[in-house]
Amino acid sequence: MTAPDDSLPTTYDAAATEAAWYPRWTEHGVFTASPEEAATHEPFVIVIPPPNVTAVLHMGHGLNNTVQDVLIRWRRMAGDAALWVPGTDHAGIATQNVVEKQLAAEGQSRFDLGREAFVERVASFVDRTGGEILNQLKSIGSSADWSRTAYTFSPELSRAVRETFVRLYEDGLVYKGHRVIHWCPRCGTSLSDEEAEFTETAGKLYHLRYPLASDPTQGITVATTRPETMLGDVAVAVNPDDERYQALIGQEVVLPLNGVRIPIIGDSYTDPAFGSGAVKITPAHDANDFEVGKRHQLPMPVVIDAEGIVREVDGAAGRVPEALRGLDRADARKAILPLLEAAGALVKVEPHHHSVRHCYRCDTVVEPRLSDQWFVRMQPLADKALTALRSGELRILPERWEAVYVNWLEGIRDWNISRQIWWGHRVPVWYCTTSCGHAPIVSRTDVTACPGCGGSVRQDEDVLDTWFSSWLWPFSTLGWPDETPDLKAFYPGDVLVTAPEILFCWVARMVMSGCWFMGKAPFHTVYLHGTVRDMQHRKMSKSLGNGIDPLDVVHLYGADALRWTMVAGLGLGVDVMLDPTDLEKSFAPGRNFCTKLWNIGRFLLSRVGTDPVTPVSALPSASLTAADHWILERLDAAIADCDAALGPARPSNGATWTEAERSRGLRLSEYAEAARRFVWNELADWYLESVKPRLNAEGADREVARAVLAHAFDGALRLLHPVVPFITEALWQQLPQTADGAMLARAAWPVARGGSRDEAKAFEIVRDAVAAIRQVRAEYNVQPGVWVDALLVTPDGSQSMVISQVDTVGALARARVQAAAANPGGAAAQVLLTGGVEVVVPLAGMIDLAKERQRLDGELAQLEKQLTALEGRLANEGFVAKAPPQVVEAERAKAAEWRGRAQQLRTKREALGNG
Ligand SMILES: [Zn+2]
Ligand SMILES: [Zn+2]
Repeated sequence: MTAPDDSLPTTYDAAATEAAWYPRWTEHGVFTASPEEAATHEPFVIVIPPPNVTAVLHMGHGLNNTVQDVLIRWRRMAGDAALWVPGTDHAGIATQNVVEKQLAAEGQSRFDLGREAFVERVASFVDRTGGEILNQLKSIGSSADWSRTAYTFSPELSRAVRETFVRLYEDGLVYKGHRVIHWCPRCGTSLSDEEAEFTETAGKLYHLRYPLASDPTQGITVATTRPETMLGDVAVAVNPDDERYQALIGQEVVLPLNGVRIPIIGDSYTDPAFGSGAVKITPAHDANDFEVGKRHQLPMPVVIDAEGIVREVDGAAGRVPEALRGLDRADARKAILPLLEAAGALVKVEPHHHSVRHCYRCDTVVEPRLSDQWFVRMQPLADKALTALRSGELRILPERWEAVYVNWLEGIRDWNISRQIWWGHRVPVWYCTTSCGHAPIVSRTDVTACPGCGGSVRQDEDVLDTWFSSWLWPFSTLGWPDETPDLKAFYPGDVLVTAPEILFCWVARMVMSGCWFMGKAPFHTVYLHGTVRDMQHRKMSKSLGNGIDPLDVVHLYGADALRWTMVAGLGLGVDVMLDPTDLEKSFAPGRNFCTKLWNIGRFLLSRVGTDPVTPVSALPSASLTAADHWILERLDAAIADCDAALGPARPSNGATWTEAERSRGLRLSEYAEAARRFVWNELADWYLESVKPRLNAEGADREVARAVLAHAFDGALRLLHPVVPFITEALWQQLPQTADGAMLARAAWPVARGGSRDEAKAFEIVRDAVAAIRQVRAEYNVQPGVWVDALLVTPDGSQSMVISQVDTVGALARARVQAAAANPGGAAAQVLLTGGVEVVVPLAGMIDLAKERQRLDGELAQLEKQLTALEGRLANEGFVAKAPPQVVEAERAKAAEWRGRAQQLRTKREALGNG
């Protein structure tokens, strides 16, 4: 197939190439994979971390999807049935927040609309604007199978969610619990542990004194970071073994401000060494206190409501003083301090750094709240996910994350999966509205009447955590719970590529659900790439205004420049640093790479021409020159380097990683560098240069040179294609051997052909000899146009090989080269190459010997004089004793350096002889 525009423009036109090739790839089904294909080819599957349906492409997506695309294109070329499943996440809280903001701008809330109308409004907003991010992913070249685009809230995936809830309920793993959970007063919903993120905060520790009821002159001091919660205290706990307090257990203290009498209890949860050894117990507003409260059957008065307002909510009559009622919790904290002080209850206030949980969606401080929620019992699921890692079925790269994963799973807590929002999968539980006493009905299908009394039912108001749908993603997208051909062909998948932030929220849970429902982990490798940061190491974010729009980069420099910059700078698990204020600087590596590749390609293709070429495999070995053998051998080496950096693609035994394999592969920057090095340093710098005279001549050797050059470039483009797909496709189409209709995106990954190392070795001598002569030329400032004389003095046995290469060396080094059996002596620069060949460049005729001798003598005399002075100083004991040690050290280093330089000058001077 020819490019849309049949000629190659002088500069690479990224926009035109991208616009021409992306649609061709999709029209020809390049990105699709079918179960039929998977029957005869190894499947290789990646599921996309589904971006939020309302998301706008940012650099994190750019990095994440470039990595996935490199892997999927590599495996597609390597002959796998490569499937990349794309899609979006309905993102419950996030999407609801977006629409609630729109409503607020119209002066409304979701409650004004009512549940049904609100959900309709969100759905139509998603229909209208959602999924735009998938189109943006196309513009960076992502080769996902778009015919399979999935959505966590589609009817199919919603069915999978319900099936999961019901099965886990039937297995006894889903239950409703009454306890203190994380609550976001702004979002108005509960959050899981993972969604309530810790932030280091400079807070204060308030020491409060509660007087004894029996003797107000005596008291007990407790410390808290949240003094406003003292209104809900129901006890003071001390350790029963703590001798200071043993006598007080069973007595009462009086709460300042409201006069409520509360008991002093003994509970071994209390650490005698922490603070005063006595702690206040507020069961409705602290998860640990809740447990203490349950153990001691204490009341649980609620003094802060769902919106974070301090008031007497539940069982709290008479507890909140008038002055504090109706205040927001933050204002209440400020207002309560003078009241406590006036009551003589505020002992002291200390600065206190501690971790405070914040809502991962809106950053509001999370409030612990007592409520009824649905939970998943995680221990049995976590056990399977641990086994998957320990057995080697699963690995995580970089490996240091494996310990983090294990720690989290070993300390797993039950997962709160109910959310008090409206946008999401509604909990599939129905309650009878009469008093017939029927148990809640948990059902795969909608329930309309009570099976007990036939009366009406109401569905649970809550929706399920967004992650409760995305944790099914690797199999729900393939048709589960039905046993579809897709599910059989493509589960389990292979690699999961994501950022470490969602290791717990998503990755570990996918492993759990996969092991639980499918009996196998959903992938064998988790690849955690770094984060994109600005030059101050800050994560790019909308609120900081330090983001880079990948589409701007594509527009300015092209998709390939973006991809190259990402991949080349991507050490395993290392953050990518970009400067949002200087796109030019940030993306210059990618832009320069494309420019240079284009220039090499244009020059090379113009020399190769369009006439058919002989396949390299059909060339008689004897017709190849040393240079031909060498470049073919270097291509083999580049293929091996790329394979070693990327692979293995899967465990070699098909099931579990061996210890040796476990940490290997997915080193994308090393792969890219190996491919680049081949094109730049070997193909362009050496082979292309050496082959020019042959291409200018006529006859059989010209055809050999064309064939090898075309073959080597073909191999290079195949190696580079996964990282820079557009420019390589455009160049590859111009190769004379490319068949009509063929596409690089579906071409085979190169395989080493194996050649003669010995034949290639002769060209290594050429390279080394040329480099040596060039070095001499530079040292003596020989003008580029001037030809010099050179001798290749060979050790016994290798003379014929060297003789065959003198012309090539001469052409590349601009030298009249001869082979010689011995060094004739005389003024000459000499370089001994590895392998024993000596390069001798006679200086007579090349430079003015007398003048050079004089110059060197002068330079040497000057240096020796300075060195003598310096050595004298260092021999002076007074100097060495008095001067600071680092000064003495620096002077010694200087002396050593000067001695080395003097020796070099002497050698050079000796080579000139005494004419
Ligand atoms: Zn929130
Ligand atoms: Zn009933």
